[in-house]
Amino acid sequence: MSHRRKWRLAGLLAAAAALCTACSATGSPVDLATVTSVERPQPAGVEVNPGSSTGTAAPVPPCDPNASLRPGPLPPAGQMPAGSTMKAIQDRGRLIAGVDQNTFLFGFRNPTSNALEGFDIDRVREIAEAIFGDPNKVQYKVITSAERIDALKKGEVDIVVRTMTATCARWVDINFSATYYVAGQRIVVDRASQITGVDQLGGKRVCAAKGSTSIMKLRESPAPPEVVAVDNWSDCLVMLQQGQVVAVSTDDTILAGMVAQDPNVKLVGPRFTEEPYGIGIPKQSEDMVRFVNGVLERSIASGTWTASYNRWLGQATEPAAPPAPRYRD
Ligand code: GLU
Repeated sequence: MSHRRKWRLAGLLAAAAALCTACSATGSPVDLATVTSVERPQPAGVEVNPGSSTGTAAPVPPCDPNASLRPGPLPPAGQMPAGSTMKAIQDRGRLIAGVDQNTFLFGFRNPTSNALEGFDIDRVREIAEAIFGDPNKVQYKVITSAERIDALKKGEVDIVVRTMTATCARWVDINFSATYYVAGQRIVVDRASQITGVDQLGGKRVCAAKGSTSIMKLRESPAPPEVVAVDNWSDCLVMLQQGQVVAVSTDDTILAGMVAQDPNVKLVGPRFTEEPYGIGIPKQSEDMVRFVNGVLERSIASGTWTASYNRWLGQATEPAAPPAPRYRD
């Protein structure tokens, strides 16, 4: 045997030995002690008890957050009035909408079709339909709760349809459509948990998204919890599943989506806030506010709103009638 062949054979034998070790390792039992002591990963960007990040620092004038601007007659699709915000969107060829992709039932990505779907996405599609005669002419921008107001102020999106509560603080910075759904804050806990209400959360780790009204309401609670703030609502569900928080607290709509996804968690306690959802629109685009309100009125009158509600929320929450629109002018 030549020198070279001898070395090659030795190499092959060594490789075979290594393979055999690998084979036997897969069959050996796992040491559970090591596995249970592994620290569970945390979602990126987790902050415990962060400072206030919702609304504006300026004093907030009192208002009726539900009251929007009265719609005029709707122009036919594809014929938006010259000089209007809607005409600029029509000429661009697509509506730019800030939405969520992590909230099952409202704005989520269907893993089979890869499309965004949900009650909020239906609202975006009907606005696109009203402008273009085509519900698909939309460019979706996925944004977090904390990014909603800035995205509108910077003109990065035409509308935000993202489980967004109309509040007087937010009205300072942006406009809202008429209320298209009224949610309320509740709590989700592990199925085995004894917690039954917000008053039992004092000092405990509770998850909510940064920039949400949910965080503010937890802080104002008579028994304030240790708030674990994350970027996305789905991060809260993962932290609850991993035992890193004892509860998630936000709108019952978002929580209903968590319960629908995971039979190991349950909704508890009554609603302790009222969260009127409005479509966020830039402050300067009052014509767009009136247009969107016209679209919402038409959707309610035609039964489209109810069909969308039944499709996404019919199983998850009690039957609901569309909110009666209120206008400030
Ligand atoms: N509706 C609440 C809000 O607008 C919580 C929902 C959310 O942040 O997505 O802040």
